[in-house]
Formats: sequence, structure tokens, C-alpha cells
Amino acid sequence: MKQSKAFIPTLKEVPADAVIPSHILMIRAGMVKMLSAGIYSFLPLGYKVIKQITEIIREEIDAIGGQEFHLPALNPREIWEETGRVEAFGDTMFHIKNRDYVLAPTHEEIMTFHAKGILKSYKELPQIWYQIQTKFRNEARPRSGVIRGRQFLMKDAYSFDKSFEDLDVSYEKHNKAYRKIFDRCGIKYFVVGASSGAMGGSKSEEFMVRSDAGEDTVAHCEKCGYAANIEVAQSVIESVPRHEESKEIYEISTPNVKSIDELCDFLKIDERETAKSRVYICNDEPVLALISGNEEINETKLEAVLGAPVRPGRPEELKEISGADAGSIGPIGFKHRIIADLRLKDGNNLYSGANKNDFHIGGIDLKRDVPNIEYFDLRSVESGETCIRCGEKLEVFKAIELGHIFKLGTRYSEAMGANFLDVNGKDHPLVMGSYGIGVERVLACYIEQHYDDKGIIWEGELKPFDLHIVSLNIKNEDVRRESNKLYDELTAKGYSVLFDDRANVQAGFKFNDADLIGVPLQIVVGDRGLKENSVEVKIRKSGERTKVNLDEIYSKIEDLVKEAG
Ligand code: ATP
Ligand code: MG
Repeated sequence: MKQSKAFIPTLKEVPADAVIPSHILMIRAGMVKMLSAGIYSFLPLGYKVIKQITEIIREEIDAIGGQEFHLPALNPREIWEETGRVEAFGDTMFHIKNRDYVLAPTHEEIMTFHAKGILKSYKELPQIWYQIQTKFRNEARPRSGVIRGRQFLMKDAYSFDKSFEDLDVSYEKHNKAYRKIFDRCGIKYFVVGASSGAMGGSKSEEFMVRSDAGEDTVAHCEKCGYAANIEVAQSVIESVPRHEESKEIYEISTPNVKSIDELCDFLKIDERETAKSRVYICNDEPVLALISGNEEINETKLEAVLGAPVRPGRPEELKEISGADAGSIGPIGFKHRIIADLRLKDGNNLYSGANKNDFHIGGIDLKRDVPNIEYFDLRSVESGETCIRCGEKLEVFKAIELGHIFKLGTRYSEAMGANFLDVNGKDHPLVMGSYGIGVERVLACYIEQHYDDKGIIWEGELKPFDLHIVSLNIKNEDVRRESNKLYDELTAKGYSVLFDDRANVQAGFKFNDADLIGVPLQIVVGDRGLKENSVEVKIRKSGERTKVNLDEIYSKIEDLVKEAG
């Protein structure tokens, strides 16, 4: 592709609203342009890489028997009502004004609709159906460029099986295919288990990339590979030490002391000597959750323990529930269910609220004084804690979710009545799995892992071109002739070549653009070199430059392209 004719609008400056490297570089290299918050146009260079990613995905999903669909994004709302997901998606779903349509945020319902009444017998199973299509989600906070968009490209696959055992097989196929896809894309990733208790034993795993731009927090063990979302991650629990002797409980007047900080200041004690109280409402019933004063309740874990959604008790309800306002609530005399984090197990000589405003209680022995207390893991893992699998140290960091594989079971087929006849001629809902990949996130995550201060560094299957011919002074007849000859012959040899043949662009700009766009191999053609019959070859990732005799370039090109990546 000749750059004089190509639309690759590179930018020298860092765009104002871009913060993370991939976002900045995709804009600066002329790959994408924002149309509106969370809505991006892919320009030819960006779209070229997107097409390469989707081709890799296609090859790997076809290899496990996937069949590609193309489904409408404009959907009748009533189909989504069958599964209750108009409500579940809430404001994230785009609705078409005054019409009963929605814009699809994913396609479980539509694939199930097509399976219903068509996949009638176990003999027709399994099936793997997929598509690579635009999704719409009215994300509250679109950010990080294409990583969280309101319109984005997703590969979504769905498996239909006759049994949960067969679903395991379809799921494993996707698990393997995903690893191949991300390996081929040159991305360093790890897999996070998110076995969701509340979803009825169904299994789900997320493919993650470590990045400060991520919105997920994960705990990861470098040694054994244990990785889990912070919402479910566990570490070895170290309970607060139990003192040899338990004091008697006693009331302390604590005027105007509300927070744990204030209590610790007032009594000159450590946060860890306190049991912090949080009142939640679950199924209309109050529950007191206790946690060590220096920690916070992880509400996702709490919901998993209680098996239902929770909400914090409202200030105006607390007095009726406990007898006191927030800041003075505690386990002694609390009349409803009391649960506590495992770290507090059998703790003694603790301080907590007295369920009476402006009073606290000291000398609490949870074992002695709160006999009906139940203990669960209610807190979030922190960096440096011990891995539950291997005993090494865990690291907690931010990550971006690239893909998600999920055993759905019969949630959608049951809701929509998509049944098949099993071996015994009995009606049975199709057993489903769903498997997503954010295509633009693959591109953004690749760049997050492959760049330097000059620009993007392409390597492997995602590179938009094999090599970049940079002609320094195209007005010079020798340069023009030799550059064009190189371009024609290398293209004819089957290499994809970007050719900077722009006439009125200075050498410095051309070098900067070449490094910014990041094609792995640059061949610099200038009149000075040509006088000695040579060109300069530069490997983008190492910055290494060598002079190569013009006549040798054709015999060396295969090795050079390989070496450059
Ligand atoms: P997230 O937690 O990041 O919102 P999700 O759990 O909503 O993701 P899924 O519904 O499982 O995502 O969608 C499958 C894949 O689509 C995700 O793994 C992710 O790569 C991609 N994806 C989801 N939302 C967006 C978005 N707003 N912009 C770009 N890609 C997205
Ligand atoms: Mg989401």
C-alpha cells in the first residue's frame, strides 16, 4: 500500500482525552477515530488488524466445529422479555424510541430463538453456532478507548448439547480454542475461574490481561497459576489471635464517636481490636455482618453466602433494627441474624457498638457472648496474602477481560421453551454454553503489551504489514526507481508492504511515522545509501539497523522478515 494514497492520519501529539497507551497509540497511528463517547470508527489501518483478529478467531472456532451466523442487531423486545433480560440489562440496553425494538447487547436469546423448534432431536446435537457482530451497550462510563465502548465487536458462540456431560465437552473445546486464539494473537493472558455458586453450579472462566486500565481486580499466584476475580478470590485465612484470657464485657461511654477511626483514637486501640458492624437487608430481613475494623465487607461474597441480593440498611431503618444509629451498632443484644468474617473467628477482647447511641462495648468474646454467630469468608483478598493452593504469595492487580466462557445450562432454553427429544423420547431443554470475545479488546490489549515510547511494535500474526519501505527523498530519480522496484518485487513475492512514497514529507517525519505505526521491518531507501548500492534495514522491536547491499535484499528478505517478527 502506497502511503501517498493511503488514509493513515497519524498524529504527533497525544490526543487530549486519551490516557492509556493503547488508546493514545491507536489514535496517533491513525487506526481509530472517536465519533462520540464510547463510539469509535475504525480507519483502514485499524480495520485491517481487526480483520486479521477475526480471521484467527474464525479459523479456531471453525476448527472445533463452529458454524458462523450473522444475526440482526435490531431485535424485537418481546424476545428479550421471555428471559427477563430487558429488566436485567436495565439502562445498559438501548431501546428504540416509540417502537418495540432493542439493540442487541449479546445474542443468547436470538440464537435460542433459532434453535427452538429446529434442534428437535438429540441426534442433531451438539451444535456450535457463532457470529462476529456488533453489540450495543449503553455503558455508564465508556472509557479507555475501544476497551469499553457503547458499540463494539464481539465474537459470540453458543453451544447446544443434550446433556451436561456433553456441555463439558463443548466448553472444553472452547477453552482450548480460546488459548490458541490468544496465543496466536501474541497476547499474554491468564485464566480466572469464576465458579458462581448462586448460578447453580455452572462454571465460567474469564480470559484476562493484566493492565492498570482494567476494570476487574484479580488475585493471581505466579507460582501455581491460581487466579480468581477479587469477588470470589480466597487466601489462607489467618484469624485474629485469641487472647489467653477473656475480659468481662463492659460498656464504655463514647460520646460522638461514630467511625472506627474515631473509636480507635478515643480508646487508643488498634483497628484490629474492633469488630466493625454493617447492617444489610436480605430478603427483607436484617443481617448484621461483622468484620475486623481495618477491613471492608465484600458484598459479592456476602450475597453468595446469603444466596440473595443484599442492600445496606438505610440510616432511618437502623434504629428500629438495632436500637442505635450507624456507628453504635454491635453484636451484643442484636436481635437478628449475625454473621462474621472468618478472620474474627473466636476473637476475644474485642470492641464493638453497644446498640445504644454514644456507647460501645469492650471485652467481647465472640465465642462466649455471641453463641449464634456464623462465620464465612466475607473479605477481599489483598496482595501478599498466602495462596490457598500452593502457599506462595498472591498478587492483586487490575485486569481487562478479553473473553468469557460460560456454562449456561438450561437458563435460556427453559425460559424460551427450546426443547429437544432425548434418547428416551422425552422433552428436555437444550443444554447451552456461551462464549464471548471482545474483538477490539484483543487489539487494544495487544498494543498494551507491545509498545515503546516511539509507538506500536507489531509482531506475529497481527502485524498489519510485513515490511515498511521508507523512501527518504522520492523526488530523487534513483530513490524513486529503486523504491518502486523493491515495492513491486516484494509485493509480488507475497509480502504485504507499506510504502512511504510521500513526496513532501521530511525524513524525520517519515522515521517517526514508521516507528509509530510499528511495522516490524523497515527498509530505508535514501540517495546517499544508493550511491553505495545499499539500503538500511531496521528491526522495529530492537531498533537494530544494518546496511544491506541492494542486490542481496531479495535473497535475504525471508530471513529479515522472520527475524523482525
Ligand atoms: P465487562 O465485565 O468488561 O463489562 P461483560 O462481562 O459485560 O464484560 P460479556 O457480556 O461476557 O462481557 O461479553 C463478552 C466479551 O465482550 C467480554 O469478555 C469483553 O471482551 C467484550 N465486551 C463486553 N463489554 C464490552 C464493551 N463495552 N466494549 C468492548 N468490549 C466489551
Ligand atoms: Mg459489561
